[in-house]
Amino acid sequence: MHIVHEPKITLLARQAFLGAPHIRWESDSDVAAQVTSEFAGRLCYLSFGPDAGFEGGHRLISGRTTNEEYLQNILRVRHGSVLEHGVWTFLFEGVSRALTHELVRHRHFSYSQLSQRYVDESDVAFVLPPEIREGTDAYDMWKESCEQALDAYRRLLAIIEEQVKDEPSKTLRRKRARQTARSLLPNAAETKIVVTGNTRAWRHFIELRGSPSAETEIRILAIAVLRMLQQEAPSLFGDYRITMGEGGVETVETEYQSV
Ligand SMILES: Cc1cc2nc3c(=O)[nH]c(=O)nc-3n(C[C@H](O)[C@H](O)[C@H](O)COP(=O)(O)OP(=O)(O)OC[C@H]3O[C@@H](n4cnc5c(N)ncnc54)[C@H](O)[C@@H]3O)c2cc1C
Repeated sequence: MHIVHEPKITLLARQAFLGAPHIRWESDSDVAAQVTSEFAGRLCYLSFGPDAGFEGGHRLISGRTTNEEYLQNILRVRHGSVLEHGVWTFLFEGVSRALTHELVRHRHFSYSQLSQRYVDESDVAFVLPPEIREGTDAYDMWKESCEQALDAYRRLLAIIEEQVKDEPSKTLRRKRARQTARSLLPNAAETKIVVTGNTRAWRHFIELRGSPSAETEIRILAIAVLRMLQQEAPSLFGDYRITMGEGGVETVETEYQSV
């Protein structure tokens, strides 16, 4: 039986800022999400500088600040829609179905998750909950329980495959067996999911799931995501401080909460 000890987090995609050829404006940032958000914010007040070249007779005002200062102010005044123009896609592997059940409650993300109806889970891995240490009674009990569940999955799968053997479609035959057998898999079963979200949605997720009251596995994931996004876009995520929380699990703080 395979046991997963930590999530694998991959940044799959980020956006590109193409700019508008007819507008004379440049940000001092080269991070597409930051530049796109700055552009969107400046459009609200036409603060691109007087020579930017917009048509329509409006008066353009000067664009004084740096990208970092500009986005800090957006966060401070909670001009949240501006943050929706920066987008990232992550691949999460080695996470439990328990974690993804909590993750998919976040309604502003887009998801594509491994199908337990389509994919055979006979050799599925199990994600060790962070509270359980190897070499303890809790570990032995947890491992034994996962092994029993996997054995039951395989046996039920074989029974249902036999039961539906007259189903002409091979795909449907497999789906019917797998969708039935998966009911025996525990929350610890490993899964993979692709998640796309904008800055505002990622910030909300990080605040809720990086907090001391969040479940430990998703908290570890949220903080790992935050670290990657802080590297990616410091003007959009640099306000968060990561501190050591109770039980040796990190937690997140910011003064610009729930933008
Ligand atoms: C510590 C913790 C414990 C939890 N325990 C439970 C539990 O026991 N049972 C349970 O069912 N869930 C539980 N949840 C999940 C929680 O209720 C939320 O579903 C989840 O955190 C998603 O966050 P969100 O609702 O803020 O919204 P998201 O979907 O992330 O949306 C972000 C924001 O958009 C706005 N929004 C989105 N949709 C709507 C809407 N339909 N109407 C109005 N505003 C909207 C809200 O302002 C919302 O905060 C828990 C979450 C945490 C962090």
